[in-house]
Amino acid sequence: MTVTIITGGSRGIGAAVARRIATDGHHIAIGYRRDHDAARHVVADVRARGRHAVAVPADTTDPDQVTRLFDAAEELGPLTGLVNNAGVTSPIGPFTDLRVDDLRHVVDVNLIGYVLCAQQAARRLTTGGAIVNISSAAATLGSPGEYVHYAAVKAATDTLTIGLAKELAPHGIRVNAVAPGTIRTDIHTLSAMPDRPDRVAHRIPMGRPGEPDEVAGAVAWLLSPDASYTTGAVLRVAGGI
Ligand code: NAP
Repeated sequence: MTVTIITGGSRGIGAAVARRIATDGHHIAIGYRRDHDAARHVVADVRARGRHAVAVPADTTDPDQVTRLFDAAEELGPLTGLVNNAGVTSPIGPFTDLRVDDLRHVVDVNLIGYVLCAQQAARRLTTGGAIVNISSAAATLGSPGEYVHYAAVKAATDTLTIGLAKELAPHGIRVNAVAPGTIRTDIHTLSAMPDRPDRVAHRIPMGRPGEPDEVAGAVAWLLSPDASYTTGAVLRVAGGI
């Protein structure tokens, strides 16, 4: 029996992962922040695939809400996995225009939130399991002129992945990351450029943005027994960029 938590599972990449791994047999707890309708839709889709699902409003930057999410997941059965996915960007622009509130929010959600969730998972995966952190190709590209601070925080995700993979391997917990390139989701609205995927398509060797389902397959593999000897890996899913 597999029980997996997906933070930010109500929309975008997280929702695609939920639908995909439900097909693979996972029971799923999704965390989200405010879009109740979107979360309810994903739960219905998971249940339609014959799996158990629960949606929990849980801001990943708040340790108490993270605890509540993990407690709710364990009502489905013993926890076996975590997809650390809830993430945000901030308005695209030159580094000199970056506002400190936007910087703090990006660090809070994309780094502190990931650490809090990984810590809960490490404590609760007492018989082993798998953690997948959603990073970004930005971690190695740097995102100049767009959001260097976001890229830097995603690089921290990769380091978190490598360190935790080594620390948790003796406990039977594998830790990997998936680094998507530009994927067609609503996150680009937060960058104040909803059509960014199409605008940057010319920079991508494959000539198009990715779809959430194309990331979900990579996450599903890293969670699966097929990846039993894979830990500390950052798997790039970015159309060649
Ligand atoms: P998205 O479509 O904007 O969805 C974000 C999800 O995260 C939503 O479910 C949202 O819930 C949730 N969320 C946001 N802040 C949260 C918080 N503080 N606590 C709990 N949940 C929160 O984003 P996405 O594009 O799927 O991105 C998913 C991950 O992939 C992120 O880590 C992102 O950095 C990474 N990524 C995305 C791209 C891309 O091009 N899309 C590329 C590389 C990496 P609500 O709707 O309830 O707010």
